[in-house]
Amino acid sequence: MKCPYCNKEMEAGIIQSPHELCWKKGTKRPAFGRAMFHEGSVVLSKLSFMKGSAVLAYLCRSCSKVVIDYSDRTSDLNHP
Ligand SMILES: [Zn+2]
Repeated sequence: MKCPYCNKEMEAGIIQSPHELCWKKGTKRPAFGRAMFHEGSVVLSKLSFMKGSAVLAYLCRSCSKVVIDYSDRTSDLNHP
């Protein structure tokens, strides 16, 4: 994947957590809790109680960006 900022080649990698991985709306740090309790949230990786959560992410070392493309949900390693 090419970096959308600088167009250099990005490195594939994983972001993982023992909790659900989700994006929450707004810039103020919200309370902990699953996406279902926060309006406008996007689940990046559903929680598996056995494996935790993990999402495919691309890193650009040149301009220090991380990109997660969740458009088809295959970035979620817990996606069936
Ligand atoms: Zn870049």
